[in-house]
Amino acid sequence: MNPELQSRLRKELEGERASVIDELHSYGADPYSGKVDRIAGIDEGFADAAQATAERAEILSFVEKARERLVAVDNALSKMDAGTYGVCEVCGRPIPEARMEARPMSTRCVEHA
Ligand SMILES: [Zn+2]
Repeated sequence: MNPELQSRLRKELEGERASVIDELHSYGADPYSGKVDRIAGIDEGFADAAQATAERAEILSFVEKARERLVAVDNALSKMDAGTYGVCEVCGRPIPEARMEARPMSTRCVEHA
């Protein structure tokens, strides 16, 4: 991959990483473990237990998605370090740069996605 594009995407991924981590912290979740200490703003303010449970489930699903995104970002960044960024995990061919630009966390070419 062209080094200029890669360094641009690296900055993008690092920014994404920081914002996902912030997001997880704002939910009271540890980014790198399955643990959620407290759900910010939920465990405190709700008199209605059923409503609190529903809100909690919704937030836990956000937390889960954010953790998945973090894993994908970290994976892309470690591929950059290993020099395998932008290479399809299935066929080993370079993924077109336009695709990497549109979806910097892609690990497969269009054919194998
Ligand atoms: Zn492929």
